Amino acid sequence: MAKHKIAVIGIGKIAQDQHLPVIDKSPDFELAACVSTRGLGHGGVPVFKTPAELYKAMPDVQLVAMCTPPNVRHAMVREAIDAGKDVLLEKPPTTTITEFEDLVSYGEKKGALLFQTWHSRYNAAVEAARLILKDEGVAELRIDWRESVRKWHPNQDWVWEPGGYGVCDPGINAMSIFTEIMPYPVFVEKAVLRVPANRQTPVDVDIVFKSTAKHKPRLTAGFNWLEETGEIWTIAVETRKGTKLKLEKGGTVLKVDGQTTVANPSEEYEAIYERFAKLLKKRKSEMDGTPLRLMGDVFFLGARETVEPFTW
Ligand code: NAP
Repeated sequence: MAKHKIAVIGIGKIAQDQHLPVIDKSPDFELAACVSTRGLGHGGVPVFKTPAELYKAMPDVQLVAMCTPPNVRHAMVREAIDAGKDVLLEKPPTTTITEFEDLVSYGEKKGALLFQTWHSRYNAAVEAARLILKDEGVAELRIDWRESVRKWHPNQDWVWEPGGYGVCDPGINAMSIFTEIMPYPVFVEKAVLRVPANRQTPVDVDIVFKSTAKHKPRLTAGFNWLEETGEIWTIAVETRKGTKLKLEKGGTVLKVDGQTTVANPSEEYEAIYERFAKLLKKRKSEMDGTPLRLMGDVFFLGARETVEPFTW
Protein backbone atom coordinates (compact mmCIF):
# COMPACT_ATOMS: atom_id res chain seq x y z
CA MET A 1 0.00 0.00 0.00
CA ALA A 2 1.19 3.54 -0.78
CA LYS A 3 2.51 5.49 2.18
CA HIS A 4 0.38 8.25 3.72
CA LYS A 5 1.63 11.71 2.78
CA ILE A 6 2.04 13.87 5.87
CA ALA A 7 3.14 17.46 6.52
CA VAL A 8 4.78 18.55 9.77
CA ILE A 9 3.75 21.95 11.13
CA GLY A 10 6.20 23.74 13.47
CA ILE A 11 9.80 22.64 12.88
CA GLY A 12 11.04 23.10 16.45
CA LYS A 13 12.77 20.76 18.90
CA ILE A 14 10.32 17.88 19.00
CA ALA A 15 9.72 17.93 15.22
CA GLN A 16 13.47 17.75 14.62
CA ASP A 17 14.28 15.31 17.44
CA GLN A 18 11.44 12.86 16.79
CA HIS A 19 8.73 13.46 14.17
CA LEU A 20 10.96 14.05 11.13
CA PRO A 21 13.44 11.19 11.73
CA VAL A 22 10.64 8.80 12.70
CA ILE A 23 8.60 9.66 9.57
CA ASP A 24 11.79 9.22 7.47
CA LYS A 25 12.03 5.56 8.51
CA SER A 26 8.32 4.84 8.82
CA PRO A 27 6.84 2.09 6.66
CA ASP A 28 3.46 3.90 6.75
CA PHE A 29 4.22 7.61 6.28
CA GLU A 30 6.11 9.78 3.85
CA LEU A 31 7.04 13.40 4.57
CA ALA A 32 5.40 15.59 1.93
CA ALA A 33 5.97 19.13 3.25
CA CYS A 34 7.01 21.26 6.20
CA VAL A 35 5.30 24.37 7.52
CA SER A 36 7.73 26.68 9.28
CA THR A 37 7.50 30.36 10.14
CA ARG A 38 11.31 30.39 10.01
CA GLY A 39 11.39 28.56 6.65
CA LEU A 40 12.99 25.39 8.07
CA GLY A 41 12.66 22.26 5.96
CA HIS A 42 13.73 18.63 5.92
CA GLY A 43 14.85 16.23 3.22
CA GLY A 44 14.19 18.62 0.33
CA VAL A 45 10.39 18.64 0.67
CA PRO A 46 8.48 21.89 -0.08
CA VAL A 47 8.42 24.37 2.82
CA PHE A 48 5.53 26.76 3.47
CA LYS A 49 5.33 29.71 5.83
CA THR A 50 1.71 29.00 6.87
CA PRO A 51 -0.64 26.03 6.91
CA ALA A 52 -2.99 27.93 4.55
CA GLU A 53 -0.24 28.07 1.90
CA LEU A 54 0.33 24.33 2.27
CA TYR A 55 -3.37 23.49 2.01
CA LYS A 56 -3.70 25.58 -1.15
CA ALA A 57 -0.53 24.37 -2.89
CA MET A 58 -0.70 20.64 -1.98
CA PRO A 59 -4.35 19.62 -1.57
CA ASP A 60 -3.43 15.94 -1.91
CA VAL A 61 -1.59 15.99 1.47
CA GLN A 62 -4.30 14.60 3.73
CA LEU A 63 -2.42 14.48 7.06
CA VAL A 64 -0.70 17.01 9.29
CA ALA A 65 1.30 16.63 12.50
CA MET A 66 0.91 19.70 14.75
CA CYS A 67 4.22 20.30 16.55
CA THR A 68 3.73 23.94 17.55
CA PRO A 69 3.40 25.13 21.15
CA PRO A 70 -0.07 24.42 22.58
CA ASN A 71 -1.31 28.03 22.65
CA VAL A 72 -1.81 28.14 18.86
CA ARG A 73 -3.01 24.58 18.43
CA HIS A 74 -6.76 25.06 18.79
CA ALA A 75 -6.95 27.58 15.93
CA MET A 76 -4.52 25.59 13.79
CA VAL A 77 -6.33 22.28 14.26
CA ARG A 78 -9.66 23.93 13.41
CA GLU A 79 -8.07 25.41 10.29
CA ALA A 80 -6.77 21.94 9.36
CA ILE A 81 -10.20 20.39 9.93
CA ASP A 82 -11.77 23.08 7.74
CA ALA A 83 -9.24 22.17 5.04
CA GLY A 84 -10.39 18.53 5.25
CA LYS A 85 -7.25 17.20 6.97
CA ASP A 86 -6.73 14.49 9.55
CA VAL A 87 -4.52 15.67 12.42
CA LEU A 88 -1.95 14.28 14.83
CA LEU A 89 -1.59 16.60 17.83
CA GLU A 90 1.52 16.89 20.01
CA LYS A 91 0.93 17.05 23.77
CA PRO A 92 -0.34 19.00 25.61
CA PRO A 93 -3.28 19.26 23.21
CA THR A 94 -4.53 22.79 23.86
CA THR A 95 -4.26 25.43 26.57
CA THR A 96 -7.79 24.91 27.89
CA ILE A 97 -10.22 22.07 28.34
CA THR A 98 -12.91 24.04 26.51
CA GLU A 99 -10.67 24.27 23.44
CA PHE A 100 -9.93 20.55 23.65
CA GLU A 101 -13.60 19.63 23.85
CA ASP A 102 -14.36 21.97 20.98
CA LEU A 103 -11.81 20.14 18.81
CA VAL A 104 -13.32 16.77 19.71
CA SER A 105 -16.84 17.87 18.73
CA TYR A 106 -15.73 19.90 15.69
CA GLY A 107 -13.69 16.97 14.42
CA GLU A 108 -16.66 14.64 14.82
CA LYS A 109 -18.98 17.09 13.09
CA LYS A 110 -16.64 17.53 10.12
CA GLY A 111 -15.62 13.86 9.88
CA ALA A 112 -11.95 14.60 10.62
CA LEU A 113 -9.77 11.99 12.28
CA LEU A 114 -7.95 13.49 15.27
CA PHE A 115 -5.22 11.74 17.22
CA GLN A 116 -4.09 13.21 20.55
CA THR A 117 -0.69 11.75 21.31
CA TRP A 118 0.54 11.20 24.88
CA HIS A 119 4.03 9.98 24.06
CA SER A 120 4.93 8.68 27.53
CA ARG A 121 2.12 6.13 27.38
CA TYR A 122 3.79 4.36 24.43
CA ASN A 123 6.06 2.15 26.51
CA ALA A 124 5.74 -1.55 27.31
CA ALA A 125 6.66 -0.81 30.94
CA VAL A 126 3.59 1.40 31.33
CA GLU A 127 1.24 -1.33 30.14
CA ALA A 128 3.00 -3.90 32.39
CA ALA A 129 2.55 -1.59 35.39
CA ARG A 130 -1.12 -1.00 34.53
CA LEU A 131 -1.80 -4.75 34.57
CA ILE A 132 -0.12 -5.22 37.96
CA LEU A 133 -2.08 -2.33 39.52
CA LYS A 134 -5.32 -3.66 38.05
CA ASP A 135 -4.64 -6.97 39.80
CA GLU A 136 -3.06 -5.77 43.08
CA GLY A 137 -4.49 -2.29 43.65
CA VAL A 138 -2.59 0.74 44.94
CA ALA A 139 -1.60 1.44 48.56
CA GLU A 140 0.70 4.37 47.82
CA LEU A 141 1.98 6.13 44.70
CA ARG A 142 4.60 8.85 44.34
CA ILE A 143 5.48 10.74 41.13
CA ASP A 144 8.86 12.53 40.91
CA TRP A 145 9.42 14.41 37.65
CA ARG A 146 12.55 16.54 37.91
CA GLU A 147 14.38 17.82 34.86
CA SER A 148 16.30 20.79 33.46
CA VAL A 149 14.22 23.32 31.53
CA ARG A 150 17.47 24.69 30.11
CA LYS A 151 18.24 21.32 28.54
CA TRP A 152 14.78 20.39 27.20
CA HIS A 153 13.35 23.81 26.32
CA PRO A 154 16.42 25.94 25.58
CA ASN A 155 15.40 29.61 25.29
CA GLN A 156 11.75 28.65 24.64
CA ASP A 157 10.12 31.62 26.34
CA TRP A 158 6.62 30.34 25.46
CA VAL A 159 6.88 27.80 28.31
CA TRP A 160 6.88 30.74 30.76
CA GLU A 161 3.97 32.58 29.16
CA PRO A 162 0.32 32.11 30.24
CA GLY A 163 -0.83 28.89 28.59
CA GLY A 164 2.76 27.62 28.33
CA TYR A 165 2.28 25.27 31.32
CA GLY A 166 5.73 25.82 32.90
CA VAL A 167 6.94 22.62 34.60
CA CYS A 168 3.47 21.19 34.01
CA ASP A 169 4.53 20.79 30.33
CA PRO A 170 6.72 17.77 31.22
CA GLY A 171 4.51 17.10 34.26
CA ILE A 172 1.58 16.31 32.00
CA ASN A 173 3.61 13.35 30.69
CA ALA A 174 3.58 11.97 34.24
CA MET A 175 -0.16 12.66 34.41
CA SER A 176 -0.64 10.74 31.15
CA ILE A 177 1.06 7.67 32.66
CA PHE A 178 -0.65 8.09 36.03
CA THR A 179 -4.15 8.25 34.49
CA GLU A 180 -3.31 5.25 32.29
CA ILE A 181 -2.12 2.94 35.08
CA MET A 182 -4.51 3.84 37.91
CA PRO A 183 -7.33 1.30 38.28
CA TYR A 184 -9.89 3.97 39.25
CA PRO A 185 -10.52 7.71 38.77
CA VAL A 186 -8.18 10.16 40.47
CA PHE A 187 -8.68 13.83 41.36
CA VAL A 188 -6.54 16.72 42.59
CA GLU A 189 -7.05 17.36 46.29
CA LYS A 190 -4.54 20.19 46.68
CA ALA A 191 -1.48 21.63 44.97
CA VAL A 192 1.19 24.28 45.34
CA LEU A 193 2.47 26.12 42.24
CA ARG A 194 5.80 27.94 42.70
CA VAL A 195 6.17 30.66 40.08
CA PRO A 196 9.37 32.67 39.44
CA ALA A 197 8.83 36.35 40.21
CA ASN A 198 9.56 37.34 36.58
CA ARG A 199 7.49 34.56 34.91
CA GLN A 200 3.87 33.47 34.58
CA THR A 201 4.04 29.68 34.89
CA PRO A 202 5.35 27.37 37.66
CA VAL A 203 8.90 26.09 37.96
CA ASP A 204 8.02 23.70 40.80
CA VAL A 205 4.75 21.98 41.70
CA ASP A 206 3.58 19.71 44.52
CA ILE A 207 0.30 17.82 44.19
CA VAL A 208 -1.79 15.65 46.52
CA PHE A 209 -4.41 13.54 44.76
CA LYS A 210 -7.51 11.78 46.02
CA SER A 211 -9.43 8.94 44.42
CA THR A 212 -12.66 6.99 44.49
CA ALA A 213 -10.97 4.13 46.43
CA LYS A 214 -12.40 3.63 49.94
CA HIS A 215 -9.02 2.69 51.44
CA LYS A 216 -7.71 6.19 50.53
CA PRO A 217 -4.32 5.42 48.95
CA ARG A 218 -1.68 8.12 49.42
CA LEU A 219 -1.09 9.64 45.95
CA THR A 220 1.37 12.51 45.51
CA ALA A 221 3.51 14.20 42.85
CA GLY A 222 6.41 16.65 42.69
CA PHE A 223 7.55 18.36 39.47
CA ASN A 224 10.68 20.49 39.32
CA TRP A 225 12.34 22.20 36.37
CA LEU A 226 15.70 23.23 37.81
CA GLU A 227 17.26 19.78 38.18
CA GLU A 228 20.63 20.16 36.47
CA THR A 229 22.45 17.06 37.72
CA GLY A 230 20.09 14.29 38.81
CA GLU A 231 17.16 14.29 36.37
CA ILE A 232 14.48 11.73 37.26
CA TRP A 233 11.14 10.79 35.79
CA THR A 234 9.88 8.16 38.23
CA ILE A 235 6.57 6.75 39.44
CA ALA A 236 6.99 4.57 42.53
CA VAL A 237 4.07 2.43 43.71
CA GLU A 238 3.42 0.06 46.58
CA THR A 239 0.49 -2.19 45.75
CA ARG A 240 -2.07 -3.39 48.31
CA LYS A 241 -0.37 -6.79 48.19
CA GLY A 242 2.95 -5.17 49.15
CA THR A 243 4.67 -5.37 45.76
CA LYS A 244 6.97 -2.41 45.09
CA LEU A 245 6.91 -1.07 41.52
CA LYS A 246 9.13 1.61 40.06
CA LEU A 247 8.50 3.06 36.63
CA GLU A 248 11.74 4.85 35.77
CA LYS A 249 13.16 6.96 32.94
CA GLY A 250 9.82 8.43 31.96
CA GLY A 251 8.03 5.09 31.84
CA THR A 252 10.55 3.10 29.77
CA VAL A 253 11.83 0.91 32.62
CA LEU A 254 9.80 -1.11 35.14
CA LYS A 255 11.32 -2.54 38.30
CA VAL A 256 9.27 -4.93 40.41
CA ASP A 257 10.62 -5.50 43.93
CA GLY A 258 13.99 -4.18 42.76
CA GLN A 259 14.24 -6.44 39.71
CA THR A 260 14.08 -4.91 36.23
CA THR A 261 11.23 -6.64 34.40
CA VAL A 262 10.87 -4.33 31.38
CA ALA A 263 13.62 -2.12 29.95
CA ASN A 264 12.90 -1.12 26.41
CA PRO A 265 14.81 1.57 24.58
CA SER A 266 12.44 4.49 24.14
CA GLU A 267 10.64 4.15 20.80
CA GLU A 268 7.66 6.25 21.78
CA TYR A 269 7.36 8.15 18.52
CA GLU A 270 7.74 5.02 16.37
CA ALA A 271 4.81 3.59 18.36
CA ILE A 272 2.83 6.82 17.98
CA TYR A 273 3.10 6.68 14.18
CA GLU A 274 2.23 2.97 14.18
CA ARG A 275 -0.87 3.83 16.20
CA PHE A 276 -1.73 6.69 13.82
CA ALA A 277 -1.54 4.27 10.86
CA LYS A 278 -3.92 1.86 12.65
CA LEU A 279 -6.39 4.66 13.47
CA LEU A 280 -6.32 5.84 9.85
CA LYS A 281 -7.07 2.32 8.67
CA LYS A 282 -10.09 2.13 11.00
CA ARG A 283 -11.02 5.82 10.44
CA LYS A 284 -11.19 6.24 14.21
CA SER A 285 -10.24 9.32 16.23
CA GLU A 286 -8.46 9.00 19.59
CA MET A 287 -8.81 12.06 21.83
CA ASP A 288 -8.26 11.36 25.52
CA GLY A 289 -8.46 14.58 27.55
CA THR A 290 -7.98 12.95 30.98
CA PRO A 291 -4.39 14.16 31.63
CA LEU A 292 -5.34 17.68 30.50
CA ARG A 293 -8.38 17.80 32.79
CA LEU A 294 -6.32 16.64 35.77
CA MET A 295 -3.64 19.24 35.06
CA GLY A 296 -6.31 21.88 34.63
CA ASP A 297 -7.48 21.04 38.16
CA VAL A 298 -3.94 21.63 39.46
CA PHE A 299 -4.19 25.18 38.13
CA PHE A 300 -7.79 25.51 39.47
CA LEU A 301 -6.91 24.36 42.99
CA GLY A 302 -3.24 25.22 43.32
CA ALA A 303 -2.02 27.73 45.88
CA ARG A 304 0.49 30.09 44.28
CA GLU A 305 3.86 30.99 45.79
CA THR A 306 6.34 33.42 44.27
CA VAL A 307 9.94 32.19 44.11
CA GLU A 308 13.20 33.67 42.82
CA PRO A 309 13.30 34.95 39.22
CA PHE A 310 14.29 32.59 36.41
CA THR A 311 16.84 33.50 33.73
CA TRP A 312 18.17 31.24 30.98
P1 NAP B 1 9.77 24.55 20.05
O1 NAP B 1 11.17 24.03 19.88
O2 NAP B 1 9.56 25.93 20.52
O3 NAP B 1 9.08 24.30 18.66
C1 NAP B 1 7.79 24.70 18.35
C2 NAP B 1 7.81 25.25 16.93
O4 NAP B 1 6.50 25.64 16.56
C3 NAP B 1 8.68 26.50 16.76
O5 NAP B 1 10.02 26.16 16.55
C4 NAP B 1 8.06 27.14 15.56
O6 NAP B 1 8.54 26.42 14.42
C5 NAP B 1 6.58 26.79 15.70
N1 NAP B 1 5.85 27.89 16.30
C6 NAP B 1 6.12 28.51 17.47
N2 NAP B 1 5.23 29.48 17.72
C7 NAP B 1 4.39 29.47 16.68
C8 NAP B 1 3.25 30.24 16.36
N3 NAP B 1 2.81 31.22 17.16
N4 NAP B 1 2.60 29.98 15.21
C9 NAP B 1 3.04 28.99 14.40
N5 NAP B 1 4.11 28.22 14.65
C10 NAP B 1 4.76 28.46 15.79
O7 NAP B 1 8.94 23.60 21.01
P2 NAP B 1 9.04 22.00 21.17
O8 NAP B 1 9.91 21.67 22.32
O9 NAP B 1 9.32 21.36 19.88
O10 NAP B 1 7.56 21.73 21.66
C11 NAP B 1 6.46 21.71 20.78
C12 NAP B 1 5.40 20.84 21.37
O11 NAP B 1 5.92 19.52 21.51
C13 NAP B 1 4.97 21.30 22.77
O12 NAP B 1 3.60 21.13 22.91
C14 NAP B 1 5.75 20.36 23.67
O13 NAP B 1 5.06 20.13 24.91
C15 NAP B 1 5.79 19.10 22.85
N6 NAP B 1 6.90 18.23 23.20
C16 NAP B 1 8.17 18.73 23.38
C17 NAP B 1 9.21 17.87 23.77
C18 NAP B 1 10.63 18.37 24.00
O14 NAP B 1 11.49 17.56 24.40
N7 NAP B 1 10.97 19.64 23.75
C19 NAP B 1 8.95 16.50 23.96
C20 NAP B 1 7.67 16.02 23.70
C21 NAP B 1 6.66 16.89 23.32
P3 NAP B 1 8.88 27.19 13.07
O15 NAP B 1 9.92 28.19 13.43
O16 NAP B 1 9.35 26.10 12.20
O17 NAP B 1 7.60 27.82 12.63
